[in-house]
Amino acid sequence: MKKPFKTAPGQYGKQPRPRDDHAAKPRDDKGRDDKGRDDKGRGDRKPASRDFKNKDFKGGDFKGKDFKAKDSRGDKPKRPQFDRHGSAKPTASKTERFTHKQGFTTRPTLRINLGAIKANYDAIQARVGNAKIGASVKADAYGLGAEAVSRTLYGAGCRTFFVATAGEGKIVREAIGDNASIYVLNGPAPQDLTLYFTYTLKPVINSVAQARIWLAEADRAKHAPFTALHIDTGMNRLGLSADDVGQLSSNSVLYKSLAPDLIMSHLACASDANNPMNAEQLARFRRLSAQFPVTPLSLANSAGVHLGRDYHFQLVRPGISLYGGQATKKVAQEDIHPVVSLMAPVLQTREVKAGETIGYNATYRAEADMKIAILGAGYADGIPVAASGPSGASAGKPSFVTLLKQRVPIVGRVSMDSTIVDITRLAAVPNLGDWAEFRGENLTHDANAIGTINYELLVRLGQRCRRTYQKA
Ligand SMILES: *Cc1c(COP(=O)(O)O)cnc(C)c1O
Repeated sequence: MKKPFKTAPGQYGKQPRPRDDHAAKPRDDKGRDDKGRDDKGRGDRKPASRDFKNKDFKGGDFKGKDFKAKDSRGDKPKRPQFDRHGSAKPTASKTERFTHKQGFTTRPTLRINLGAIKANYDAIQARVGNAKIGASVKADAYGLGAEAVSRTLYGAGCRTFFVATAGEGKIVREAIGDNASIYVLNGPAPQDLTLYFTYTLKPVINSVAQARIWLAEADRAKHAPFTALHIDTGMNRLGLSADDVGQLSSNSVLYKSLAPDLIMSHLACASDANNPMNAEQLARFRRLSAQFPVTPLSLANSAGVHLGRDYHFQLVRPGISLYGGQATKKVAQEDIHPVVSLMAPVLQTREVKAGETIGYNATYRAEADMKIAILGAGYADGIPVAASGPSGASAGKPSFVTLLKQRVPIVGRVSMDSTIVDITRLAAVPNLGDWAEFRGENLTHDANAIGTINYELLVRLGQRCRRTYQKA
């Protein structure tokens, strides 16, 4: 008798399990997957022979030829796969090197150095002396992962954190525990009040309207969190006006119910030490904050830290400096370590003849014969289309990528999942799976080249990337 079909109509039975499925599995914040394996060395520039001898890789899905504990360069293909490139290089060995790396992945990786974040924290602490640091970990710690980053900062001694929304506050609270203050910069709104009370988040009160929203709930609660008062001193963004300050400070009942434990303001032009607005804001902050009988006071963001003692008060609120971004116009003074690199694998290389075009809309036309590499990261990973080159927005100042230790320019339009670079001038030919590095120490340059700021490039990086953290 014929066996009945077990599969539903339209299905074709069990699909074979993909061999290399590690990239699809969720990883924890140490970059480990569900079996506790981490990715150290895999697909890295160095051959990962140690990892492949590891007991975790015995048998199972990892038996295949691709996973032999062997240097990729020793694992020669029977015949050169890419002899077109080989012919451009004089020696045969160059051709044979044109192989792929073992176990390489097409998924980009965001490499985050937690040790560098700690070093940056320590450098800021040394600079501000007795003042405390309240770390800005809003927007998922500028895109780097609020949990891992907050824990690192907590480990470095940080006990005050700033986020933008109550939901972000919940994530940070769960990561670091109860022994720290978490302020929510955007201030309270009715829908978020439960989060404030459940996770003991301190709202930053930016207006009289927000004060009222908060009080409606706080007056009924037994243990309402303290608040911060944010005074606007000239930026005209969030914060209490001079009138609002008068209103709150003259109404002792209102003031008492708000129970502020921090008075803060924010600098508009701190990145430029010569801007007279800094001193104006400082004077206004001193005058308005004096109407409240409370310290600590806080004015400086990362750039403000470099404006000198007068700006530090009892708490500074750095963000970008912690994450390796240059905050001021004088890099040399900052003593900041790069923290993040977006690593994109080489997916393909090809030769392009003079006159041919590259990429969408054929925006780039080769003037001479050239070699290009297709990298596996695009605008979905935070490489802005504006970084396309060298026409359009970045005309004349192409954005660069580091490949085999050399800077190579982006050519053609950045695609959703890939970016093309000109490798004609590279000393060696990359292997498939070799990592190209976006950002790193070039973060600020790359941002300026396309008319944006390092903050924006940083925060947009890596939604689809695997994140790997280098321990503090
Ligand atoms: C984002 C933010 C900061 C941190 O700014 P950086 O320039 O990243 O140091 C500090 N204070 C306020 C009010 C902010 O919004």
